[in-house]
Amino acid sequence: MAFQPLHVVIAGGGLAGLTAAHGLLRAGHTVDVFERHDTVEHRQGYYLHVNPMGGDALGRCLPEDLYRLYQATSRVNYVRTGSIVRDSQLNELSSQPPLIPPKDGAFPDTGVHRRQLRQILRARLDDVYHAGTAVVSFEQDDAGVTVTLSDGTSVRGDVLVGADGINSAVRRQLLPDVQVVRTGIAGIGIFGRADITEELQAQLPELIDEGVQMIVDRHGSRLLVATYRPRRSAAEAAAEIAPDVALEDVPPYVMASCTVPAGTAVPPASEWTLEDAARIRDAMLDALEGWHPAARAIVAGMDLDSMFAVPFGFLDPAESWTPSRVTIIGDSAHAMLPTLGMGANTSLNDAALLVDRLEAVGRGEVELTAAIGEYEAQMRATAYPILRAASHHDENFGGGALVDLASDGSPA
Ligand SMILES: Cc1cc2nc3c(=O)[nH]c(=O)nc-3n(C[C@H](O)[C@H](O)[C@H](O)COP(=O)(O)OP(=O)(O)OC[C@H]3O[C@@H](n4cnc5c(N)ncnc54)[C@H](O)[C@@H]3O)c2cc1C
Repeated sequence: MAFQPLHVVIAGGGLAGLTAAHGLLRAGHTVDVFERHDTVEHRQGYYLHVNPMGGDALGRCLPEDLYRLYQATSRVNYVRTGSIVRDSQLNELSSQPPLIPPKDGAFPDTGVHRRQLRQILRARLDDVYHAGTAVVSFEQDDAGVTVTLSDGTSVRGDVLVGADGINSAVRRQLLPDVQVVRTGIAGIGIFGRADITEELQAQLPELIDEGVQMIVDRHGSRLLVATYRPRRSAAEAAAEIAPDVALEDVPPYVMASCTVPAGTAVPPASEWTLEDAARIRDAMLDALEGWHPAARAIVAGMDLDSMFAVPFGFLDPAESWTPSRVTIIGDSAHAMLPTLGMGANTSLNDAALLVDRLEAVGRGEVELTAAIGEYEAQMRATAYPILRAASHHDENFGGGALVDLASDGSPA
């Protein structure tokens, strides 16, 4: 039997939606992706930890050359994998092996510059990517789904995939009881990056490159750091591997997120100014009084223009539901705290799981809603336990040292 293509409407052009779009096109289906933002320039964070769960999903979904471009632009191999906790003088307190063990080979999955990955994922989708158009609601019947868009028009598809993030409009209609739990993690919700200039490099001990690390003291101050050192120039890699993809070079940097003392005013993103960034960076330095000079140098070197606040949150997800032509992937299904660096990895994995099941539908091996039900069961079994583990930040980052610190008032 010839492959029977489905038309899949995807709400959201984030990591999950774009990966699903590539995978579905590769399988022989057609897609339309609707993304509410006009550009990819809005603040999305910097370093993104990618492990074999996410890397394998990219390999399954992307055209072969775009996958190689992802590999070429990823971070050089770490000295160690897993999460590390250090005290304010950079002595190791605790560590924890990675949740998903690394793979051997020339390009073990490590981490990427998030915007660059999104640019790779956005490549070759011009004909099907509709920027500046949000999905508002949907109506399904026996033959398909009608999706209403923010410009007042509607589109029809065989399937609607909600890949529209933690505040998903698709999920709100499909599973209205799911609640978003808003939280913060002891003040590390402000992110920024410091380029690794010669001057900063001279102040960084080698251990800073060992892996993603949390540096803490017993007064409640915390500094999360991850270094990004690309395997090679992104512009050169793109020119050689996929010349139709324009990538700018990103210099090596340290991504950092740091405590601010209680009472520091943090304005909402829309009101954030460079003066706020300078004031908040100074407040961070106050929080790190007496810390190892390298830790202070990272914060002092933060580019003011790179700083932004991330409101953390996670879902209290639905246990199960009756499958239909409408489904959800990524943060819209299981947004989690960044504790374990697994949100994007599980989101990419969802895209690959869904592509696999919808490919089977195209081959006539399984009925559509049964296939979507199979995807949803696999997604819940994989992502929900990780979501729950990520919610216990202090127990599950770095092997519990943060719990010990929180319960011990003595100075470190
Ligand atoms: C600070 C921070 C650090 C993190 N670090 C890591 C890490 O190291 N490793 C890791 O695996 N994960 C990490 N995560 C988690 C990761 O960023 C998310 O899990 C991942 O981005 C989810 O991808 P997504 O495509 O599901 O959602 P999103 O990336 O949120 O994309 C959703 C898209 O949908 C669009 N959209 C929203 N509503 C609509 C609508 N109604 N119609 C159309 N479009 C819409 C949005 O504009 C957005 O582009 C981190 C998260 C944070 C906040």
